[in-house]
Amino acid sequence: MIRHTTTPVVTPLSIGPSAAASAPQLHREFRTDEFWRDIPGWSDVTEAEFGNHLWQSKNSVINLKQVRQVLGTRVPDSFFTDVEAGLRKAPMNIRITPYVFALIDWDNPTDDPLRKQFLPLGSQMLPDHPFYLADSLAEDTDAPVPMLTHRYPDKVLFLPLTTCPVYCSYCTRSRIIGGSTETVEKDTYGANKEKWEAAFEYLRQSPQVEDVVISGGDAFNMTATHLTHIGENLLAIPHIRRLRVATKGIAILPQKILTDDKWVGAFLAIHKRAHEMGKQVYIHTHFSSPREITKWSAMAMQRLYAEHVIVRNQAVLQAGVNDKIETLSLLTKQLSWMNLQPYYVYQHDMVPGCEHLRTPLGVGIELEKQLRGTTAGFHVPTFVCDAPGGGGKRHIASHEHYNPETGVSVWRAPRVKPGRLFLYFDPLHALSPEMQKRWTVQAEREAMVRDAIHQVEPNLGGEQAKMIEDLLQIAVH
Ligand SMILES: *Cc1c(COP(=O)(O)O)cnc(C)c1O
Repeated sequence: MIRHTTTPVVTPLSIGPSAAASAPQLHREFRTDEFWRDIPGWSDVTEAEFGNHLWQSKNSVINLKQVRQVLGTRVPDSFFTDVEAGLRKAPMNIRITPYVFALIDWDNPTDDPLRKQFLPLGSQMLPDHPFYLADSLAEDTDAPVPMLTHRYPDKVLFLPLTTCPVYCSYCTRSRIIGGSTETVEKDTYGANKEKWEAAFEYLRQSPQVEDVVISGGDAFNMTATHLTHIGENLLAIPHIRRLRVATKGIAILPQKILTDDKWVGAFLAIHKRAHEMGKQVYIHTHFSSPREITKWSAMAMQRLYAEHVIVRNQAVLQAGVNDKIETLSLLTKQLSWMNLQPYYVYQHDMVPGCEHLRTPLGVGIELEKQLRGTTAGFHVPTFVCDAPGGGGKRHIASHEHYNPETGVSVWRAPRVKPGRLFLYFDPLHALSPEMQKRWTVQAEREAMVRDAIHQVEPNLGGEQAKMIEDLLQIAVH
C-alpha cells in the first residue's frame, strides 16, 4: 500500500517582488469546487465517490443515450441531434470520464474546448482533406513486427493495446483505437501478453534501440500485472535505457493516480527497478487545455513528484481549443507549476475526422515564436510537425518550403529517411475562398503540389518522383 501525500495542493503565493509581481498568477490557482454537482445526473455524487477511479470508470459516458441521461434538460434537444450527426461521421466512438465531462461548460458546449475534443458536433465537422490518410504517419508501414513502429535509429514506438479511458475525436490512431464506428472497421486489440513477445524478441535482437515509447492505446488501460510484465521484459534488455509510459490519464482520469494503488504500485516498482539499473522510466501525458487542470491534476502530480517520477506533456495544437497565445502560455505555466514538463506541441496530424480542428502551419510557427520566453527554456514546448508519410517529428519552422496561400509545405528528414521529401497541407477552410476553389480541381491541386516540390528539388528523380505521383493518386475526392 502506498501512502498518499496530504500536502495541500493549492499552494498560497509566497514569492518575493518581481517585475511581473503585479500580473495575475492564474496558473497557480486550481479549481477546488464540486463542479460535477452542476450535472443533473451527478448532483448527489460526493467528493469521495468522484475522487475514486472505479467510480469514474464505471460512470464514464460511452454513448449518446448516456449523454442525454446525465445531462437531462441541461442543454437543448438540438444539441443531442447535433452530436448524433457528429457520431455518424466520426471515426471514433465516444468515451468520456465524468471528470472531463463535468468540466465542459454546459452553458456553452458549442464553443467549449473540452467538448470539442471528445464529443463531435455534426455542425462543426468538415470534409477530410484530399490528402488525409488513415495511417498518415505510416506507422504500420514502418512496423517490422506487429505493434512496433521502428522509424528512428535508436527509439521505437510500442503499441501494446488499443483501448483508452477516454476517446479523443481527433485520435491520430483512429484506424485502430477504440472499436469500429459507423464509418471505420477496426482491429482494436486489448492487452495480450503472448502477442507482445514478438516485439520483445525484435528489441532483444536490435542492439541500436535504447528508447521505447509504450503507447497505444493508453497505459491506464493495462492491468498492474501487464504493466509489470512489459516493464520487466523491456528493462531486462541490456541496451534499452529509457522507457516512456504514455497515458492521457493524468489529464482525464487523475483519480487513478490517487486511488488505484495497485496500478501506481506496479508503475513505481518498474520506476524504482529502472533507477537501480541506471535506467530511466518516465510518464508522458497529454493535456491540451488549461480547462482540464484542477486540484485533482495537481494532487496526482504531487503524488508522482513525491516519488521522483518525471512527467512530460505532449499537446496537440487545435483550432478553438488552444490556438491562442494566452491559452498556450497559461497551459505552459500551469504544467510547469505542477512540475510537469511541457515537451511537445504537435501540428495536427492529417487523419480523418479532424479537419475542423486543424490549424495552418503558419499559426503554429507564430504561436511558438510568441510562447518562447514564457518560462524556463526547458519548460517551453517544442512545436513539431510529424511529417505525413513517416518523416518523423520535425521542428515546425524547419520546413524546406511553405506557401501559406496554397497551404502546401515540403519537408526533409535527413536522419530518418535521407533523400526523401515529405508534404504537409494546411486545412482548406483556412485558405482564401479562391484558393479553396482551386483545391476542388484535381489538375490545379496537382499543379500546386508539383510547384511546391519544384521549389525545393528542381530535378526530382526516380524513387522520389514516383512517390509524389503515388501521393497525388490518393487524393480521390
Ligand atoms: C514520437 C515517436 C517516437 C519518440 O520520439 P521523440 O521525439 O523522442 O519523443 C519514437 N518513434 C515513433 C514512431 C514516434 O512517432
